Amino acid sequence: MPGVTPIALVDPFARRVRDLRLSVTDRCNFRCTYCMPEEGMQWLERAEVLTYEELARIAAVCVDRWAFDGIRITGGEPTVRHALPRLFELLAPLGVDLAMTTNGVKLPELAADLRAAGLRRVNVSLDSLRRETFLALTRRDDLDRTLAGIDAALDAGFDPVKVNAVVIRGINDDEVVDLAAFGREKGVGMRFIEFMPLDAAGDWTMDRVVPATEILERIDAVFPLESVAPDLTHIEPAARHRYRDGIGDVGVIPSVTEPFCGNCDRVRVTAEGRFRTCLFALDETDLRAILRDGGSDDDLAAAIEAAVGAKWAGHRIGAVDFVRPDRSMSQIGG
Ligand code: SAM
Repeated sequence: MPGVTPIALVDPFARRVRDLRLSVTDRCNFRCTYCMPEEGMQWLERAEVLTYEELARIAAVCVDRWAFDGIRITGGEPTVRHALPRLFELLAPLGVDLAMTTNGVKLPELAADLRAAGLRRVNVSLDSLRRETFLALTRRDDLDRTLAGIDAALDAGFDPVKVNAVVIRGINDDEVVDLAAFGREKGVGMRFIEFMPLDAAGDWTMDRVVPATEILERIDAVFPLESVAPDLTHIEPAARHRYRDGIGDVGVIPSVTEPFCGNCDRVRVTAEGRFRTCLFALDETDLRAILRDGGSDDDLAAAIEAAVGAKWAGHRIGAVDFVRPDRSMSQIGG
């Protein structure tokens, strides 16, 4: 905002908040078992979902007031929303790092336009290289389209292209090394994510979580690894490791076994405009009401500051007092 000098937005645990995750839809063209039920999701009405202008207004408040330096677009599946490049055209003038998480299937048709509109980097989700496992996990027979989406992302010049894989014991944990090999061959950074209790079915159990240490051990046994010092200019949840032979790197996101809450710098806005300070937050702040009731940017900023002022130290997955949020990952925006 012209005339406003940015100041840092800091939560009660002295963590600077500077990373915004915007969900643009709760809808998805996949039905991943660890996220959504096969049928019966209650979709938001179109009018309930924030417009691109409303999303961009929230983003501008965060960047102009508190110098947020990263915005990630997610969902649901962001590419199923109509005319998605237009959102990046609205966000690009903010001059911050623009990223997106996607399942990739629509990238062959969209990647070039997204890149031209200002999107710089993408994470594509790919949990299996086996057609049957991919189908069982996503409930869609779209492995080839996802692989084509990764190629399209590389061709469009996104840099970096990363590939996210949720690892679930007994389902795809035997593919960790194959996925690592895939990342090395393609020149994409694999990011292995521990399975979190955000599945709509509520089937999550601790014994299905493959700890990050185990994932790394399995990869290291085939492709020796060394750890990379964290980049202090850009907080990343993934602990990064590089291959000793110099061919790329790999990350693990140990949200369950070694939560990185102490470094958390992010906040989220759901597709219907609810502001959340944690994936596992139980409280939300309704920014849409402020936007649509004629609230000012100061009103939006005050609501965001109040929510961040109540941000908790961290989630407590595995603790006796852990309470699951009553939303799935797709409804929050992963
Ligand atoms: N549809 C997009 C995609 O597939 O990447 C973006 C939204 S999706 C909710 C974002 C990320 O969350 C994906 O990488 C997905 O694998 C991950 N995810 C979803 N449910 C999860 C869970 N229960 N545990 C861990 N990661 C999960």
